Amino acid sequence: MKDALRPSLALPEGRSKVLLHSCCAPCSGEVMEAMLAAGIQYDIFFYNPNIHPVKEYEIRKNENIRFAEKNGIGFIDADYDVDNWFDRIKGLENEPERGERCTKCFDMRFERTALYAYEHGYDTITSSLGISRWKDMNQINGSGERAASRYENLLYWTYNWRKHGGSARMIEISKREEFYQQEYCGCVYSLRDTNRHRRSQGRDRITLGVKFYGREEILKPD
Ligand code: SF4
Repeated sequence: MKDALRPSLALPEGRSKVLLHSCCAPCSGEVMEAMLAAGIQYDIFFYNPNIHPVKEYEIRKNENIRFAEKNGIGFIDADYDVDNWFDRIKGLENEPERGERCTKCFDMRFERTALYAYEHGYDTITSSLGISRWKDMNQINGSGERAASRYENLLYWTYNWRKHGGSARMIEISKREEFYQQEYCGCVYSLRDTNRHRRSQGRDRITLGVKFYGREEILKPD
């Protein structure tokens, strides 16, 4: 996507190859197009064992694969090791979003990203997570930097993808590509809390797999 407003992007000095941790197609669409436009070499690492249930996980992952294939970008499909995810966040089930549970969730996902990057010759990792206005950039950057610091010469790139029109382009791209539009962050607790909030407002519970950017009609559930 050519966009005059998007500033020309450059990797931090001396860096040449990025492993992009992607949480979903809508969040990574702009990040992917920005790096493509800048000629940055990268692949996608999809490691999100937080996403519940598996039906939602598969939908988000397949949307991301569809867009990666369209753009000829490498896609690494990592484990869906949910048992480890639940072990890691034990005791934090009732934390609010952006709290300690989310720090552990980001830590786990970025640690695996950093390990893969280190073992496969990437010198930089970054993430699409921070483009969402629901997320705390400092919390994400902290987890990313901690994970990268485990390995010599690995950098977590803290570029703010929201700035310079990034948030608006994220929506434009999502509509253009008709990406699946998830309605909660991802884990079973965020699904629970979003449904509680919706019920408190007299709204229906979330139905998985029915909402897509740029489409008027809502698909009928299976
Ligand atoms: S709310 Fe989102 S970031 Fe926080 S633990 Fe759940 S899936 Fe992870």
